[in-house]
Amino acid sequence: MTTYLDTHCHLDLFKDPLTTLEAAPDTVVVAVTELPSRFRLLEARFRRDRRVRVALGLHPLRAHTAGPIEEGQLIRSLPRAEYVGEIGLDFSRHGRDTKTSQLRVLDRLLAEPLLRYRVVTAHSRGAEKILIERFADAGITAILHWYTGPAGLIDSALAAGLYFSVNPSMLRTEKGRATVAALPRDRVLTESDGPFAKTGTRSVEPADMSRLVSELGRRWDITQSQAAGIVHDNLATLYGATVGTSTPSPQG
Ligand SMILES: [Zn+2]
Repeated sequence: MTTYLDTHCHLDLFKDPLTTLEAAPDTVVVAVTELPSRFRLLEARFRRDRRVRVALGLHPLRAHTAGPIEEGQLIRSLPRAEYVGEIGLDFSRHGRDTKTSQLRVLDRLLAEPLLRYRVVTAHSRGAEKILIERFADAGITAILHWYTGPAGLIDSALAAGLYFSVNPSMLRTEKGRATVAALPRDRVLTESDGPFAKTGTRSVEPADMSRLVSELGRRWDITQSQAAGIVHDNLATLYGATVGTSTPSPQG
């Protein structure tokens, strides 16, 4: 059976997360969170669901208002979260006034040695250069999700070992298609970024990952199942290089 991957999905923001999951029975979903308190709720809800990996996150646009309790939970929950996201930086017009708070939260997290043993999915809008440098310096092999930065930085991200998760919205813009074309196949992952990313008027969701993989297969001139195999192997490699090398953590 072909398994698809959605490595960046805001599952908790869909109206009915279970219906969203049931529409994609062959897809493993990394459910990113915007606050550590949401991680705890989702973790309790999906602990036994094999389709879901709940990620511990503190979204950069929440960094300014999250407060010390959420920040403390971010650090304290790290030992039991194999996946970390959504974290990162946003220096676009949405986040440029809160740069200081964003950098404080990011640097606090990067100072945790355990982060190197986690699969990290990161937001980088308008802050691609500094984020790639931070990850390279800290030795974090993160996934840059929905990369919209300059083409000229892709090579430094690749040199730093970073991965890229692509979504259907990227394939609809010329710049997005150019980004995908610049990526070696062994660094590509798939994501919905639902419900934020849209296809027409509806949200992209995990069920769209099979069509996305077909589209990648066409671009790579291989079959859909070969493309799915590559994407699957990429996450397995990343997981093996991070979580797989970690010392056993007190995981339930
Ligand atoms: Zn997101």
